[in-house]
Amino acid sequence: MPASPKRVALLGATGSIGTQALQVIQQHPEQFQVTLLTAQRNVALLVEQARAFRPSRIVIGDVSLYAAAKEGLSGLPIEVLAGSEALAQAVTADDIDLVLTALVGFAGLPPTYNAIRAGKTIALANKETLVVAGQLITAEAERSGVKILPVDSEHSAIFQCLVGEALTDIEKIYLTASGGPFRGFSAAQLEQVSLAQALKHPNWNMGAKITIDSASMMNKGLEVIEAHWLFGLEAQQIDIVVHPQSIVHSLVQFTDGSMKAQLGTPDMRTPIQYALTYPGRLVSSFTRFDFTKVPTFTFEQVDRGVFRTVALAYAALAQGGNAPCVLNAANEVAVAAVLAGSLPFHRIFDVLEQALAQLTFIAHPTLDDLYETDRLTREQLATLLLPVL
Ligand code: NAD
Ligand code: MG
Repeated sequence: MPASPKRVALLGATGSIGTQALQVIQQHPEQFQVTLLTAQRNVALLVEQARAFRPSRIVIGDVSLYAAAKEGLSGLPIEVLAGSEALAQAVTADDIDLVLTALVGFAGLPPTYNAIRAGKTIALANKETLVVAGQLITAEAERSGVKILPVDSEHSAIFQCLVGEALTDIEKIYLTASGGPFRGFSAAQLEQVSLAQALKHPNWNMGAKITIDSASMMNKGLEVIEAHWLFGLEAQQIDIVVHPQSIVHSLVQFTDGSMKAQLGTPDMRTPIQYALTYPGRLVSSFTRFDFTKVPTFTFEQVDRGVFRTVALAYAALAQGGNAPCVLNAANEVAVAAVLAGSLPFHRIFDVLEQALAQLTFIAHPTLDDLYETDRLTREQLATLLLPVL
């Protein structure tokens, strides 16, 4: 038993990663203490979670829901805060050791940046933050001596393969991809798909945004950029291989030609738990992999001509500066439009291409430059998408 439990702030507690993180924490009450819970709109679940885990404070992102949150926790010694400013501040509290960023999109940037500056260990699920501001985030983490522990299953796999290894001994890494619901589809076939099909991921049950990202393969593009910043690898050292079974979570190839992979059933609680317990491990009861049930592993190439998201992500990474920020903002707008039913799924590719083509390039963006790039990209796309929105 640890001398004192690890004090965890959970941003995006009501989401797919957030609820699974609470399942992990619930299994090990002596190891972890939840001190902050946040959510954007699901006030009912946030209140329920706060009643169960008794954090010092909660933040509800949507300020119009403050009264409901306050009412739900009346009589309990739990501070109730609201709004994005409060979220960005709450992560710096003294009673936090580790911040698990399980919120979605660009909104993760301010609290993650502040948490790093306040010296908190980061368990990073919110890949968009590294995509948008990888340079600033990793520089600040280095300056503050803060560890960024990956939660994304592929990056956790690479991270686990690298225990005891030197980063300089890496030749390349392979990020595995399930291929999503449209694996093997032609461009013409993609023009016919429905939103319901796009939301049906074959192997993982995730939030809506990342589910659409997986269907478009943008998720893998974002993960390439995420890997670049997490492991300090050049773009040509990061490859993608489609592995429909989702058992091999990613691989590292070393300079001597030897390869290591990390395997397991597709269950996000495993990488979440590893980030929470790193550098140690804790016993879990999650389903073990059974070779008799999945006797065959297969691997194939992603068609970058059809899934142009992958090529666009590599292009944005090569361009650097604020290009990945533009790509991310355009993707958030496009995915929101697809989810709202106002943009056909296959148009995501065109929207991203257009946004990158309109880019006003900034080679070394500050944090303010990135906020401005994000805002401008959304504004420009609102005009571009007007006919379909
Ligand atoms: P989700 O949509 O299920 O949950 C998102 C959470 O963030 C919710 O609690 C929501 O209230 C909160 N939130 C939404 N918008 C917000 C805003 N503007 N400000 C503050 N909070 C906000 O998403 P998810 O699937 O759990 O994904 C969360 C992050 O983890 C994403 O960055 C995703 O790419 C990453 N990730 C998810 C999975 C997965 O299996 N779900 C796997 C790997 C990485
Ligand atoms: Mg992933």
